[in-house]
Amino acid sequence: MADDRAQRIARFIEPLRVRPGSTVDLAADFDPLYKADLTKEEGVALLAEGVEVLAEYQARLAAQDSRGVLLCLQAMDAAGKDGTIRHVMSGVNPQGVRVSSFKVPSEEELDHDYLWRYQCRLPRRGEIGIFNRSHYEEVLVVRVHPEYLRRQRLPGESRDPGVWERRYREINDWERHLADNGFSVVKVFLNLSKEEQRRRFLSRIDLPEKNWKFSTADVRERRYWDAYQRAYSDVLSATSTEWAPWYVVPADRKWFARICAAAVLGHALMEIDPQYPTVGEKAREDLMTARRALELEAPVVRSEDDSEKRRK
Ligand code: ATP
Ligand code: MG
Repeated sequence: MADDRAQRIARFIEPLRVRPGSTVDLAADFDPLYKADLTKEEGVALLAEGVEVLAEYQARLAAQDSRGVLLCLQAMDAAGKDGTIRHVMSGVNPQGVRVSSFKVPSEEELDHDYLWRYQCRLPRRGEIGIFNRSHYEEVLVVRVHPEYLRRQRLPGESRDPGVWERRYREINDWERHLADNGFSVVKVFLNLSKEEQRRRFLSRIDLPEKNWKFSTADVRERRYWDAYQRAYSDVLSATSTEWAPWYVVPADRKWFARICAAAVLGHALMEIDPQYPTVGEKAREDLMTARRALELEAPVVRSEDDSEKRRK
């Protein structure tokens, strides 16, 4: 039964996986509207099942306390990163999850190498870490806006045109180091279409309860759409590896994106297959000794007859 579930999930996410070594052309290879022939009703039921699977496996991951998972979420604005995290993680124990968001780097962060701030926020053993934006911003927004690279104050030779190829290699090596040390790296790109982003921005303007989400900076950033698509295509081609593959999740339908993200994370946890620790012979004896001691402390219950006799 459990195996059957694992196989179903593996089959479901296979079309989303970027084959290591393949060359990706985002627009040609991945459709933001793909929905695997599911209806929304079926999708809602599947997500509920996925949330349960995650809760079960996260409890086991925490109890086993030897492996960790890092989920990296990347997307264009309004693709639904926040909602995905909220829904997908709705069933798990908050104590076992750590979410970190990455924005424009601070002065302190710029005083270090570009991977430092991500290293500082990695999950511990037993935890699921979620990066809401991740180290991939260093080869995406920083590539699209060269002024960000200048702010990083790299030595001359590190700024040559080979900088992106070098960063891909460094990122692949860093993720391999994490994988070798017991941390699975799971990477999800929420693939939104330009037209759906336009609609979501419009609804943020039109609906008062969504106004707070709207930022004119996001509309300015939209002008760089094609540059981002190229940068993403390059990233997906260069950094989808056997030890940390990318999954391109169709994001034009929020409900479908959430199922996919839950399935990708669930798959990673099932691969780990964490187990509740079992106790050894000695610990078992200690448990029994403690049990006897607790039993001896039980209050003495006198029956009605006893109290009756004492009164006479
Ligand atoms: P939301 O808008 O839903 O709150 P967000 O992730 O878009 O979430 P913002 O505060 O709007 O958060 O934006 C963060 C900005 O920081 C993004 O435009 C992102 O590209 C930018 N950013 C992230 N990392 C870097 C970096 N290393 N260098 C420069 N800019 C970065
Ligand atoms: Mg934003």
